[in-house]
Amino acid sequence: MAILRKRNSLEMPKPQSPQFAAIPSVDRLLHEPAVKALAEAYGHSATADAVREVLAEFRAHLNTDDGSARAAPEPEILVQHITDKLEDSAAPSLRRVFNLTGTVLHTNLGRAPLPVEVLEAITDAALHPTNLEYDIGKGRRGDRDSHLEARLCALTGAEAATVVNNNAAAVLLTLNSLALRKEVAVSRGELIEIGGSFRMPDIMARAGCRLHEVGTTNRTHLHDYANAVGDRMALIMKVHTSNYVVEGFTAAVPESDLATLAHDHALPFVVDLGSGSLVDLKRWGLPHEPTPRETLAAGADLVTFSGDKLLGGPQAGIIVGHADLIAKIKRNPMKRAMRLGKLSIAALDAVLRLYDDPDRLAEKLPALRWLARAAIKIEAAATRLLPAFTAWVGERGTVSIVSVHSQIGSGAQPAGALPSAAIAIHPSGGKRGRGSRLKKLGEALRGLPVPVIGRVENDAFVLDLRCLDDEAGLISQLAAATSANGKPQP
Ligand SMILES: *Cc1c(COP(=O)(O)O)cnc(C)c1O
Repeated sequence: MAILRKRNSLEMPKPQSPQFAAIPSVDRLLHEPAVKALAEAYGHSATADAVREVLAEFRAHLNTDDGSARAAPEPEILVQHITDKLEDSAAPSLRRVFNLTGTVLHTNLGRAPLPVEVLEAITDAALHPTNLEYDIGKGRRGDRDSHLEARLCALTGAEAATVVNNNAAAVLLTLNSLALRKEVAVSRGELIEIGGSFRMPDIMARAGCRLHEVGTTNRTHLHDYANAVGDRMALIMKVHTSNYVVEGFTAAVPESDLATLAHDHALPFVVDLGSGSLVDLKRWGLPHEPTPRETLAAGADLVTFSGDKLLGGPQAGIIVGHADLIAKIKRNPMKRAMRLGKLSIAALDAVLRLYDDPDRLAEKLPALRWLARAAIKIEAAATRLLPAFTAWVGERGTVSIVSVHSQIGSGAQPAGALPSAAIAIHPSGGKRGRGSRLKKLGEALRGLPVPVIGRVENDAFVLDLRCLDDEAGLISQLAAATSANGKPQP
């Protein structure tokens, strides 16, 4: 396994006698049986390039600073460096990791993992021609949304649906289609930023709309919206303030009141729901998250939400609502620039089909399974993992099991924390230098063959086990690293 190898740094041979063996030629090395085997595995040109690069690196180091010459490297060392270089460049950049951060839908770690049930659909779409935009019955051009629309409508109660690359695109496309060069009313309490790159005011500007801010940060009333509505107003928008809560003296206008106001002025009412769970999460003892169905029932004309948040599918942006508005959105030429790819359509279709059997959703959708996992089960996993972590940490610190809180992530329910259990590593030694020892622990965990990502909390390195499925894999890589080290590194 290429990515599992730990690369040694370029070891230079020790200076020996003044006369040193000549560095072999590229050609001679390429005829070495070991290098021939590499060419078989990685291709001739990549191998020849690696040979050239390694020889150049060694040549550059043959002369030391004081002018004396170093010995040329043994062929085995050269071959080792060539192998490392080839493995390095052949290794994929996108790698699997263990998400022990405690944030289930972690945007930086790819949000919701897909269920295995979707693999066949993805493989089929990947390996073969499909009816992606082809109507088999009629024998002519079809619509890629057709694979998803009926199910999305059934799951949300909408008349129509369309799908784009992500929810940011869904919002951008909706605004650009319905409010170009016009005003959009949004409460000042909802002008959110998500993950640093999605800021509602910036999206509005790029969509070609003028943001009409309404109310104040903590309180917005129906009359604030009513006063804002004028000739230039194109729609009223509500944004689910998914990644923060405003507490204390607050007021927001219920969706149904906003819908009535919008409709009185013949304006569409659009809700960006962000996460948008398709089912009531209370069923699994989780905090309720508004569903697209409820939001449409409350009077929203369009609702946008993500495919890879609580829905548990691939990255996608879903727009559901009135048929005439969806049709207008689909006519926007920008839709073409934001359309969903066939692999994602295959995956989303397969995930939506799992919703036909809601009783087994928490078994099948990994993100939902993790969210619903009981603290007592997570604690049991921590007990099983404790010895492997204790051995791996060795002299570097003490390991214990602690109670923590996980979070849903990706904006859903910032306040609703889920009781969980974690392995906590307290670095040995006093207060001085603790920060750098914690940093080193984090580096060592990330340096494992399948990198382990955790968090620092209360002066300890904390590994929340809520999202751990491959317990055996984690234990075995810790054991392998422990015995490879002989003794753990400082
Ligand atoms: C997450 C989120 C978005 C962005 O969705 P992506 O799928 O990440 O593009 C937009 N609005 C809200 C309210 C969100 O929570």
